[in-house]
Amino acid sequence: MAVEEFSEIAAARRIQRLSSHISPALTEPPQLQTEACSSRSKKLVVNGQALSLYMKGKHRDIQEKVHEFYNSRPDLQTPLEISKDDHRELCMRQLYALVREAGIRPFRYVADDPAKYFAIMEAVGSVDMSFGIKMGVQYSLWGGSVINLGTKKHRDKYFDGIDNLDYLGCFAMTELHHGSNVQGLQTTATFDPITDEFIIDTPHDGAIKWWIGNAAVHGKFATVFARLILPTHDTKGVSDMGVHAFIVPIRDMKTHQTLPGVEIQDCGQKVGLNGVDNGALRFRSVRIPRDNLLNRFGDVSRDGKYTSSLPTINKRFGATLGELVGGRVALAYSSVGVLKVSATIAIRYSLLRQQFGPPKQPEVSILDYQSQQHKLMPMLASTYAYHFATVYLVEKYSEMKKTNDEQLVADVHALSAGLKSYITSYTAKSLSVCREACGGHGYAAVNRFGSLRNDHDIFQTFEGDNTVLLQQVAADLLKRYQEKFRGGTLTVTWSYLRESMSSYLAQPNPVTARWEGEDHLRDPKFQLDAFRYRTSRLLQSVAMRLKKHSKTLGTFGAWNRCLNHLLTLAESHIESVILAKFIEAVRNCPDPSARAGLKLVCDLYALDRIWNDIGTYRNVDYVAPNKAKAIHKLAEYLSFQVRNVAKELVDAFELPDHVTRAPIAMQADAYAQYTHVVGF
Ligand SMILES: Cc1cc2nc3c(=O)[nH]c(=O)nc-3n(C[C@H](O)[C@H](O)[C@H](O)COP(=O)(O)OP(=O)(O)OC[C@H]3O[C@@H](n4cnc5c(N)ncnc54)[C@H](O)[C@@H]3O)c2cc1C
Repeated sequence: MAVEEFSEIAAARRIQRLSSHISPALTEPPQLQTEACSSRSKKLVVNGQALSLYMKGKHRDIQEKVHEFYNSRPDLQTPLEISKDDHRELCMRQLYALVREAGIRPFRYVADDPAKYFAIMEAVGSVDMSFGIKMGVQYSLWGGSVINLGTKKHRDKYFDGIDNLDYLGCFAMTELHHGSNVQGLQTTATFDPITDEFIIDTPHDGAIKWWIGNAAVHGKFATVFARLILPTHDTKGVSDMGVHAFIVPIRDMKTHQTLPGVEIQDCGQKVGLNGVDNGALRFRSVRIPRDNLLNRFGDVSRDGKYTSSLPTINKRFGATLGELVGGRVALAYSSVGVLKVSATIAIRYSLLRQQFGPPKQPEVSILDYQSQQHKLMPMLASTYAYHFATVYLVEKYSEMKKTNDEQLVADVHALSAGLKSYITSYTAKSLSVCREACGGHGYAAVNRFGSLRNDHDIFQTFEGDNTVLLQQVAADLLKRYQEKFRGGTLTVTWSYLRESMSSYLAQPNPVTARWEGEDHLRDPKFQLDAFRYRTSRLLQSVAMRLKKHSKTLGTFGAWNRCLNHLLTLAESHIESVILAKFIEAVRNCPDPSARAGLKLVCDLYALDRIWNDIGTYRNVDYVAPNKAKAIHKLAEYLSFQVRNVAKELVDAFELPDHVTRAPIAMQADAYAQYTHVVGF
């Protein structure tokens, strides 16, 4: 066949498929009707445009600018097959191009307009997740530590170099022996009053800084977290002031040679994110000026005296780590971006892919199978839920940066820990579900699930391991719970706990436990009450268990004895927060048709979660057996309804084509795109 003939046929096929995509109602194969839904045939119409408009963040323009720039530069796009070293160089060029060619300066927004910074990070991450993380290391971790933990002198000296990428840097916290336990770090910074310097030392192999982004190849500086050691006049001779942060130059500004006393090794090939050059750092009596102590929360004078506005090591440590929550906010936000991409690819493919069908009738779309709906529709609903939750988190974080309000700092700390861990865990699992939902074609590298899964996987661990972060959420809830019983007030964000604690103390209402009408089950009040009831119950019961066990096991042992319970509590709380924000977002949506679409996914999110934990509700008769069954049937029906508007719902994410460029996601002509990729 002549090339022209082939392309004519291909074009005709594309047009045919395109038309079937544009007007699915006319040409779609018959849908399988499940028993549960056959009685209700009314199909919801969702105004996709209005929905997109509502979802659109206020920084969409800058995201579009990023996308347009990289779309116009094939030389900056990451090929499917690339070596580690080439990938690292490409990521570096991608970052230089962002700043020096596209003229986008993310660092300027880190402190002053964090929402804009997170929007840039999400867009950059969709070009290549390694690139997003490399940018995060430079601006959020290295740059953020300088401006948040340092004072004016540091800002004046380093801001421009960090901003224009002359000062590439690292954030060197983790050590070989200590990751999550930051207070256990062993690197030391000993003050030498004679030379007015700190001496940075790695006392043993376990204290080698490990996994440090930008260290293996590109970094010139590192913010090194080390124990501050001061000379004293007592018999001990020195005093350990706890972990502080120091700016340590690691490579020569001109020659890029490693500086004397610094040893750098490469952490090598990783499971994903191979465009980021993670390295290990060892220090042998490296001297830095006293000014290099990032001294916002604690300082050392010329004569070696320590001063701080915060009274204890623990308070200083808390304040230091508290300044670093921006990284968690960024990860939660970006993880939702990954979930959007992955759900979009899987759902678009599932709408097109046809397998089997009723006898003598055309094959049906695989999204018409109840099982496929079960895999993907609650996921789509969750994506919406997390979108609104992270928008809320970013708002709170921005407000916190402006006001420094103490209560807000505590709230954002717990909220960012909870959302980061909850969402990244969910996305990591969903990536496997999406791959599987696309069958064998989901396994082709070109269809992206492999790289998305490998690159995203570590989101669960860095910026705080998820299991460890959830414990911080649980600890925070318990603290507030104890305050309540000591007569302290609970803040507005958490006030629902106070309300639902009192309803918890009462027995579940035997009448409402039997209500099973659709209106009742779709009532936000029923849904939110159920979520909050579960949280309050878990909180109350774990508090009692901790009290009981601490008598015999001590605090640490009791905590460990109740650990799974505590993690469930934290997740339950975060789910309540997510639902509350989702309900609010539905209520505030101005367009009735878009609002109806959101209400549908919000109900699915809520009922699916209640059903997932139905044992808990049944155990205490919060729902009677018939009500449990009704919840399940309604959740299945809602999945079916969401399937009918799934196209509009994923389109409303407005992901640019290159982001869902996986051939199986090409809606108009999946196979033509795909066969082309393998060379036909
Ligand atoms: C690709 C990559 C990039 C990184 N970049 C940087 C960087 O630039 N700078 C930097 O400083 N660090 C970086 N890190 C390190 C990262 O922050 C740590 O890996 C992370 O904090 C977890 O520490 P860990 O690896 O020591 O795990 P551990 O703390 O040893 O955790 C191992 C396991 O033990 C469990 N565990 C630990 N403590 C508890 C507990 N109290 N209760 C219950 N379970 C527990 C965890 O849940 C986890 O499953 C990076 C890591 C990677 C892999």
